[in-house]
Amino acid sequence: ARAEIVVIGGGYGGATAAKYLSLFSNHQARVTLIEPDDKFVSCPLSNLVIGGSQSLGDLTRSYNDLTKQHGIKLIKDYASAIDPVKKTIKLKSGNTLRYDKLVLSPGVSMMWDSIQGLTQANASGATLQAWKAGPETDRLHKQIAAMRDGGVFALSIPEAPYRCPPGPYERVCQVASYLKQHKPKSKIVVLDANQDIVSKGALFKKAWAELYPGMIEYMPSHNVVAVDSKTKTLKFDIQDDVKADVLNVLPSMRAGDIASQTGLANASKRWVYVDFLTFESTAAKNIHVIGDATQNAQLMPKSGHMANQHAKVAAAAIVAELNDWPVAPAPLLTNTCYSFVDAKRVVHVASVHAYDAKDKTFKVVPGSGGLSPEPTALEGTYAWSWARNIWSDMLA
Ligand code: FAD
Repeated sequence: ARAEIVVIGGGYGGATAAKYLSLFSNHQARVTLIEPDDKFVSCPLSNLVIGGSQSLGDLTRSYNDLTKQHGIKLIKDYASAIDPVKKTIKLKSGNTLRYDKLVLSPGVSMMWDSIQGLTQANASGATLQAWKAGPETDRLHKQIAAMRDGGVFALSIPEAPYRCPPGPYERVCQVASYLKQHKPKSKIVVLDANQDIVSKGALFKKAWAELYPGMIEYMPSHNVVAVDSKTKTLKFDIQDDVKADVLNVLPSMRAGDIASQTGLANASKRWVYVDFLTFESTAAKNIHVIGDATQNAQLMPKSGHMANQHAKVAAAAIVAELNDWPVAPAPLLTNTCYSFVDAKRVVHVASVHAYDAKDKTFKVVPGSGGLSPEPTALEGTYAWSWARNIWSDMLA
């Protein structure tokens, strides 16, 4: 019988894995993709929706080609439990699936309990995250659009690692770009649990000073411990409270719930250790974990681009194993993260990561990659090309 391959999660990692499992096996593998959402909505570029220059529709794509062109069976459901011994998956609908090989790309879950009062604050709409693109992205834009001129937008950033290292700082640029045009007396307060900007720091600081002078206050080493919904106040370990009109609170993150429920989150109880040649979890045979949920190798960001690259290595290894072929000995991954400093101009950071057989991990290739010298509109067109190309690579 043909092997049953199941992929959980139709995001950057999972959709790519499903497509490449089908391609690498010459459409011979039986691939099932489980995803609760009707359509794919991209987190990359979603800060532009918050800044008001794009709509969510511009970032939404269909799963139709995966089923029609690549023969993947799409099940609109949520995996609620995995039994790694029986090799079964229980779905929220009540159905059970069997697998020979499982790919898990569930993204991140927020650690709600890491900030006192956050669960209640979210329930009342006093705080939002918008760290998975969708309805919350629109809601956050609407809250900013409804803010008085002269109001304060506060964004809190958790200690790294978290999904998308430059993402929060790009969001600051987008909110600033909107406020500069529509509510110029307003202020942005950035409360960063890290000691400094985690990615592209010098480029962001220069862009903030030149494009949005006097608007952005950056406060490093500010770790939010509690939020008061009634007074819209953030509380810290040591520093004074900060009150704001719109609160965008990003708590610490960990691997998506299904990974921890299955006992796979064996790195600091948050992320999943994998064998980097195959992306098989070190905690369970035949379960390959990719994307944000994994414990990063050296300087590997939690990015959509990286999840797409993990997916191809995992898909190739699975198809090789099922056919008794040798697993590719030296995978090479690339990453580029673009950030919009306003509606059009962009900066990037790029890197190349090679497998090191001796240390069994990926290491940055010395001299590879780098940073933009300055924001340009030409890089803005590259950023859109990157997005359209990667969406096609995953979904078409
Ligand atoms: P996701 O893409 O989140 O996919 C996870 C999927 O799994 C989701 O569709 C979810 O519905 C599904 N799922 C979860 N649990 C289950 C379950 N139990 N059963 C079934 N389905 C499940 N990256 C870049 O490369 N470039 C950028 O410019 C960039 N910008 C970003 C900007 C923002 C504002 C944000 C928030 C992120 C950005 N990222 C960027 C990061 C990027 O979005 C993530 O790194 C990427 O989505 C990770 O892919 P993933 O497959 O691990 O998770």
